[in-house]
Amino acid sequence: KVNRLFHPDDSVIKVNDRSIGGDKLAIIAGPCSIESEDQIVTIAKKVKESGASFLRGGAFKPRTSPYSFQGLREEGLELLKLAREKTGLPIVTELMSADYVERFLEDVDIIQIGARNMQNFDLLKEVGKTNKPILLKRGMSATIEELLMAAEYIMSEGNENVILCERGVRTFENYTRNTLDLSAIPVIKKLSHLPVIVDPSHAAGLWWLVEPLAKAAVAVGADGLMIEVHNDPANAKCDGQQSITPERFGSLMKTLKEIAKIE
Ligand code: PEP
Ligand code: MN
Repeated sequence: KVNRLFHPDDSVIKVNDRSIGGDKLAIIAGPCSIESEDQIVTIAKKVKESGASFLRGGAFKPRTSPYSFQGLREEGLELLKLAREKTGLPIVTELMSADYVERFLEDVDIIQIGARNMQNFDLLKEVGKTNKPILLKRGMSATIEELLMAAEYIMSEGNENVILCERGVRTFENYTRNTLDLSAIPVIKKLSHLPVIVDPSHAAGLWWLVEPLAKAAVAVGADGLMIEVHNDPANAKCDGQQSITPERFGSLMKTLKEIAKIE
């Protein structure tokens, strides 16, 4: 089902009255994690003002250490919904456990499956039984073939609303958090009809690399970008060092508008 051979036209995934794929660039922006009502609503309003079409924010966070901030969980979902109410931006958030599928179906517009769960096959099958758009992130050590087969797990259950996300892979290089695999975008687009977006924030791990990588992603044909934006990066509970401020996000959007049509 992911294979372009049997589906020559590019897929466009509908999300409410918006879409991902096709001839426009979809911009998803927001903090790594939802921290408070003031934080998520402030950021949501600012990214909307600059032209983002979707709001991201983690409520359930897959952290390396069990002692790190794990997200506001259900309370986070409620705050994210509030930010949607105040801005009209559709919301994207990560689902880590099948226990919350029903809740996410009701509450969110796009379900994110994170890098660490790309091959959680039971979770993939569960979201495959729904008709919700799924943002499937590439595992940090997954090949393109493995990413496509993970998408196949979702699609084989009946849900063809899958958006793929390149977010960098692990290499010997450790200056950056991951290495953005720019070749993956044209390769995936050759092999599959699914839209592919790029997350330069998790690829870089450094805020000042986000803009050049975002531009490079557009140049190689990405259908969209997911960018971490925080109003106080120095005090962010998660991923502050790779988060750009709303002001920088605004100037990045101006640049992007010069090189692409924005959704
Ligand atoms: C995220 O988008 O917040 C995230 C945890 O990303 P990844 O799964 O790509 O590490
Ligand atoms: Mn993050």
